[in-house]
Amino acid sequence: MQSAVKPAKLIIRNGRYVCPNCKQTTNQKASPDTNADRLILWCRNCKAEFVVNIDHGQCSIVSRCR
Ligand SMILES: [Zn+2]
Repeated sequence: MQSAVKPAKLIIRNGRYVCPNCKQTTNQKASPDTNADRLILWCRNCKAEFVVNIDHGQCSIVSRCR
């Protein structure tokens, strides 16, 4: 069984997540022990929304909302 969407890693810069779309830092803070399931990450720069999973600071993008 192959998944069509490859999980992408989220980049952290200056303690904040970087938007995968416009590569600017978002308002969402990152911490090495953050755990989140289907967190919605919103970028104020390009207005893109992503559903992300964070497991001990390791984040993967589940899907893009808009
Ligand atoms: Zn963006």
